[in-house]
Amino acid sequence: MIADAPAWIDAAECLAPRTQAFVGGAFVPAASGATFADHSPRDGRWLADVARCGAGDVDGAVAAARAAFDAGTWSRCAPAERRRVLLRLADLVEARFDDLALLEALDVGKPIGEARRVDVPSAAACLRFYAEALDKVTGETAPVGPDALALVEREPLGVVGAVVPWNYPLIITAWKLGPALATGNSVILKPAEQSPLSALLLAELAAQAGLPDGVLSVLPGFGPEVGEPLGRHPDVDKVAFTGSVEVGRRFLVYAGESNGKAVSLELGGKSPQVVLADVADLDAAASAVAWGIFYNAGQTCHAGSRLVVERAVRDELLERVLATAAGLQPGDPLDPASTVGSLVGEQEAVRVLGAVEAARAAGAELLCGGERADPVPGGSYVRPTVLGAVAPGDPMVREEVFGPVLCVQDADDAEHAVWLAQDTPYGLAAAVWTREVATAHRVARRLRAGTVWVNTYDAGSLMTPFGGMRASGHGRDRSLHALDSYTQLKTTWVAL
Ligand code: NAD
Repeated sequence: MIADAPAWIDAAECLAPRTQAFVGGAFVPAASGATFADHSPRDGRWLADVARCGAGDVDGAVAAARAAFDAGTWSRCAPAERRRVLLRLADLVEARFDDLALLEALDVGKPIGEARRVDVPSAAACLRFYAEALDKVTGETAPVGPDALALVEREPLGVVGAVVPWNYPLIITAWKLGPALATGNSVILKPAEQSPLSALLLAELAAQAGLPDGVLSVLPGFGPEVGEPLGRHPDVDKVAFTGSVEVGRRFLVYAGESNGKAVSLELGGKSPQVVLADVADLDAAASAVAWGIFYNAGQTCHAGSRLVVERAVRDELLERVLATAAGLQPGDPLDPASTVGSLVGEQEAVRVLGAVEAARAAGAELLCGGERADPVPGGSYVRPTVLGAVAPGDPMVREEVFGPVLCVQDADDAEHAVWLAQDTPYGLAAAVWTREVATAHRVARRLRAGTVWVNTYDAGSLMTPFGGMRASGHGRDRSLHALDSYTQLKTTWVAL
């Protein structure tokens, strides 16, 4: 029972989400008529039967996307018109704030307070950012001499497939849709099978906002049945992918074996927070270390899943991290007071606890957690878990767990800390905590990561690019740079 439940929570009992695919401006069943059952990890309950799209639906959506692109109603319309529609979409996202937050909370077990505070406002802000940016970026004339005029301009790519994961369904979708639509592309969105509902409501809002038919399609379904045909389609110009390393690499194969389409990959991580002995504020570091991993139940690509700490401050820091972790226990995702919700499904809970057991069997010390919680019967909840004495090379320090599990690595000195921090295949994010400005910059330069934070964690803005190096992928979401990845350069050379 949720104390003082606001009225919007009652809606959970009578939720009637969109469940059909959205193609060519209309909601339609999958061509095969198939559906799949979407369950909530909050309590394991059935939420909806959702269209299970396949290759035929991909063909239909690509044809609609190409027709819209060629017709030019979006791709060649006045930038001010694109801005008007995208701003209206952002307004509609805000107008349906409660519904979107509720769908996110039910579909993936995210705390509704976080969905309302972060996920829905961030998605609206992102759409607004690209709407406002789209006519502020101009082309060039190249200095080619007196006898010619050379224009260098950016054009949309054409048909873009956006394949997204379930951990921040609305935010990551907005990161793709914002720049792709702002630059005039047609987009086929494939939400994760765990989280189709907010994407389908977004499609409804896009139509209401005035996006021309065919410019946006949403195809719910499974990876091999929708993602793969999209990745292999000869008339798709780019796939923007966020998800696991394994699937990201498959998209490179799909592209190579089809039309050589562009692929951008935002993949996983095993991000370290490096705390040096001269850290200025141990409380701030402890709080950032605990929130950095336990936020969203550890299901964040840039979760700070490793604490690399100099021995001199290890015990003092760890004591505070464990105290903060004790306060971040999973609660009912529909309770506005919950800060942490469920994992996305039962399979993930079993997998995460299995990884913890394997690390313990290899000699790691369980400092807290390592077990289920049960705030709502039938749900998939794991307590915040901290492991010490994890050996370098153990899968726990090298492989992404994607759950609420922090592993602690002890460093002899700053040099050793940098070495430990680098010892994974990934390069998504990292942090360094030190009071010395020069040390901060020296360490930050050496950490191979798309984002390095100094004396903070998980700070960001739409103005800063986000993405990874090495096994964490390539390509960047957010910022004006993202516009580049949905456009191509064209030179027009005019003889004078
Ligand atoms: P996933 O790779 O299993 O799935 C991502 C998407 O790919 C889903 O839509 C899925 O249906 C689709 N897919 C799955 N198999 C496919 C196949 N064979 N062919 C084509 N498409 C396929 O990832 P996930 O479990 O949904 O998300 C978790 C992963 O995402 C983690 O590794 C996490 O680190 C990563 N992630 C990265 C970022 C980032 O920006 N770097 C952000 C969020 C999540």
